[in-house]
Amino acid sequence: MSETSCFDCGNPSTHTRLPHAWMCKACRRRRHYHPQPCPGCQATRPLAYRLTDRADDTPIVCASCAGAESVFACSECGREDHPYGASRCARCILRERLTTLLTDPDTGQIHARLRPIFDELADSERPQTGIWWLRKQPGIGPRLLGQMARGELEISHDTFRALTSDRAHNYLRELLASAGVLPAYEPRIERILPWLDLKLAPLPANHADLVRRFAHWHVLRHLRNVARQRHLTKATTDNARDHISTAIRFLAYLDQHHATAAVAATQEQLEHYQTIHNISLASEYTFITWLRRSRINTQLRIPHAPAGTPAVTISDEQRWQHVERLLHDQTLRTYTRLGGLFTLLFAQPLSNIVAIRTNQITITTDDRVDITFSTIPVQMPAIVDQIIRNHLQQRGKSLYASRNTDWLFPGGKPGRHLNTENIRAQLVAIGIKPHESRKAALFQLAGETPAPVLAELLGIANTTAANWAKLAARDWTGYIADRAH
Ligand SMILES: [Zn+2]
Ligand SMILES: [Zn+2]
Ligand SMILES: [Zn+2]
Repeated sequence: MSETSCFDCGNPSTHTRLPHAWMCKACRRRRHYHPQPCPGCQATRPLAYRLTDRADDTPIVCASCAGAESVFACSECGREDHPYGASRCARCILRERLTTLLTDPDTGQIHARLRPIFDELADSERPQTGIWWLRKQPGIGPRLLGQMARGELEISHDTFRALTSDRAHNYLRELLASAGVLPAYEPRIERILPWLDLKLAPLPANHADLVRRFAHWHVLRHLRNVARQRHLTKATTDNARDHISTAIRFLAYLDQHHATAAVAATQEQLEHYQTIHNISLASEYTFITWLRRSRINTQLRIPHAPAGTPAVTISDEQRWQHVERLLHDQTLRTYTRLGGLFTLLFAQPLSNIVAIRTNQITITTDDRVDITFSTIPVQMPAIVDQIIRNHLQQRGKSLYASRNTDWLFPGGKPGRHLNTENIRAQLVAIGIKPHESRKAALFQLAGETPAPVLAELLGIANTTAANWAKLAARDWTGYIADRAH
């Protein structure tokens, strides 16, 4: 090895002077980026030094163990980790760029309110990522931060509310909230605000005003409490929207039928309302209870929701949206559409649906389609009947036809029907939960159909039907009867 070759690879180089030899650029870089446990002190550091500067066979150790000044040390902070540029580490470069970005031109200092952002980013585990974030063509986040530091944008949630809500904006907003620069916020709650504005826009001013108070003082406050305890789920926020929609519906009813404001609504009016909307009492409770508690209207009373009854977590509105999609979305597989529709409309469990045989289906001469889920034929509504007729025709042409199957949904294996998971997975993929949907369907059907008929129609146990009927109707009618005495 000549006097001017790299001690590591042997190539000629006078790039870096070590006490015992030269080291080329590539080897220096490799050793810097791949620190190893030092045989002298066990610390993980870049190793390139000989324990003594003479013997060629002494172990290669860190600079400290060799008593040398490290060529790997950052020229600014002296640390060897997070190598980045030629002489300075990623952390020092990041601090410099953050300082430039976050300096308030009025004070020449880092903007006082953005100081926590500086600390958070500058001390991050991977400063290289921060440098990338602040790259030469900065993205939305750093651009907004710069504008905030220079006083061109207000540092507030309102600023974000006025901007589009995409990943980049949300990331910065969450960063500001997590560093305590902005109060905590919950994106799922936040998305309700523009939705609320849309819902309120067409309403008369007095309705809009009341619903807005209900939404802010009760519904959103409740959601924020739930979010603080980290229990917020999609079902909770869906429910919240449902409470708001229900309040709007109730006010519209008062307007149309009685020309009364919520303030003056009477118990009779409420009861009439309940008899014409014989479903989903639970969501009305919230608004009526709020009217009472905030002393806007103390005349209205609603009996407590019966305890221990089945719970419905899907609103009627959601259920009908799902039905609409399944009726019209031709991109979905037919078995997914029909499976979902049988669940959403006839409360059929998927295990029954996959096992429907063609002899349970009757097509009359005038093209009516009846399905006998249990013992009574049920007439299929429009569009559903069309989908079934098409499916039966297509099915005749399919590769399973030769197997002479009588399953409505033949499976992949000869003689077997489709697996429930095939339908379930596809429904879940488009946001439909079969089990919850079935409960919602039962709830509505139970409100419309006497329990024994329901039991026979759907093939469910009499007691199950009765329980659903109780939830959907009996409690309320019983209550009205009581008041009549
Ligand atoms: Zn080398
Ligand atoms: Zn060492
Ligand atoms: Zn440094």
